[in-house]
Amino acid sequence: MVDRADPRERIAAQRAERTARSRARARRTVTRRDGARCEVDGRWLLNFCGNDYLGLSQQFQVVNALMDTAARDGAGGVASHLVCGHHAAHDALERELADWLQAPRALLFGSGFLANLAVMQALLGEGDACVQDRLNHASLIDGARLSGCRLRRYPHADAEGALRQLRSVPGGAAMLVTDGVFSMDGDIAPLRELALAARAQRALMYVDEAHAIGMAGPDGRGSVAEARLDLDAVPLRLLTLGKALGGYGAAVVGAADLVEHLADTARPYVYTTALPPALAAASLAAVQLARREHWRREKLAGLVRRFRGAARRRGLALLPSDTAIQPLHCGGDARALAMSRQLEEEGYWVAAIRPPSVPEGQARLRVTLSALHEDTQVDALVEALARAHERIAPAEPAATPGA
Ligand SMILES: *Cc1c(COP(=O)(O)O)cnc(C)c1O
Repeated sequence: MVDRADPRERIAAQRAERTARSRARARRTVTRRDGARCEVDGRWLLNFCGNDYLGLSQQFQVVNALMDTAARDGAGGVASHLVCGHHAAHDALERELADWLQAPRALLFGSGFLANLAVMQALLGEGDACVQDRLNHASLIDGARLSGCRLRRYPHADAEGALRQLRSVPGGAAMLVTDGVFSMDGDIAPLRELALAARAQRALMYVDEAHAIGMAGPDGRGSVAEARLDLDAVPLRLLTLGKALGGYGAAVVGAADLVEHLADTARPYVYTTALPPALAAASLAAVQLARREHWRREKLAGLVRRFRGAARRRGLALLPSDTAIQPLHCGGDARALAMSRQLEEEGYWVAAIRPPSVPEGQARLRVTLSALHEDTQVDALVEALARAHERIAPAEPAATPGA
């Protein structure tokens, strides 16, 4: 008999453990969507956990651009960019993104996850180092691992820690990598201090603007623009097209030499089918709206202030965040789930985020606000959160909602 572990036995054990610890994950199927409302299992819920922050994903100009381009060019790009999949719609979007972010070049990717793998794999190798915030997105961590470089992590938002870590890995090339707005916490990285650390250690700084693009900074140009850092300080940024811009895909924007190197060599760029041109056209329309319709950001900022003020009055301890991401710590995983279920009973969809998406012991309800929401809806959500918070005791094991 060959002595070999059985992967199926192992996954069955892992699944049983996840279930026992309230960690099993279930997909919910959305059958219809109308702005901030979703139909799930035959019931309409008000959605407070999506990333359609500016309300662009069903905006008619965005959807029309998608349909018109699909009618002309088809559903897909049918090849990689370097073979015959690069269309005029891709070109137009890359030019618009570069213009918006005041950078020489932009390069489209199938998704933000792929783009992060691409950047690190193309720019780093054995002997190099990548220094990252502990709370960076999984795709940034995986990108560093894939590159074969030394990965070092520093305490959340700690620029001193970043500097120490950079000093500990002399010799090879180094990158300093951070989320601009942290996806599960909503706070903003100390970009100016980090840029100083990067400069002192001659590290290349890369900022993931997934939750900041369209939202932070002048004309929604993101957290790097908000921190008034130029291309010398931050030569590369990641933007996603699937969050505030309402579509799907991503772009890396920055210095021409770096971006061109990605286009020539990054495996997640070269060996994959191009983003459908219709999606590029939809994103172009979304970017044009995000750049000029300031009312979307202004309305959202007002909703954020309103939500935080009402939550404070009701004694809810929100994490410190001024962005559309407004998490509420729940203690245990079971409590987060129970609170999420109770909110659903009342007509609100707020997903419970549990480890490993967040650190152990930090399960939370990740409330996200959108320009699609109205004042009265935000007020009502806070009341429902306060009721769930009071009704579901901190130590309670997997409770049944309403029980
Ligand atoms: C969502 C996200 C990504 C991945 O982007 P996709 O386009 O969804 O693959 C990368 N980084 C951060 C910080 C994100 O929140």
